[in-house]
Amino acid sequence: MSVDTGYIQNADELTGPFAAALAEGRLIVQKCNDCATAIMYPKYRCPNCFSGSLDWQQVSGAGQLQTFTILRMGAPSAFDVEPPYCIGIVKLDEGPQLMCRLHPGADGTWNSYVCDQRVSFAPADAAEVAQRPAAWFTAA
Ligand SMILES: [Zn+2]
Repeated sequence: MSVDTGYIQNADELTGPFAAALAEGRLIVQKCNDCATAIMYPKYRCPNCFSGSLDWQQVSGAGQLQTFTILRMGAPSAFDVEPPYCIGIVKLDEGPQLMCRLHPGADGTWNSYVCDQRVSFAPADAAEVAQRPAAWFTAA
């Protein structure tokens, strides 16, 4: 499946593999071939040893919710069709952290989420990923 990431500068080099994996329901981060540091967001050089030898690795999708917010109005134009929605920061068990979308709970809200709770990667459907290649998480 092809994901339109044309709005992201250097999408093919840096974020293309991430978006393509999301479209397949997988979560990947970069990994340094020299020092094994897990890296997110994608970079040209390892932030630990400055090596340019980087690959991608699939991660467990398990992590801790660092913080989150619910946007009810004033969303960027690419998201203005669906407020309210929730974005958060997840620290993966493998080390790096990333911004994500959070699925609402069974009651249709995000009232059950709290900072520091365990969350897990729960991919959005392919149509959503094709429109906005973000990693989705839910309560673990
Ligand atoms: Zn390194």
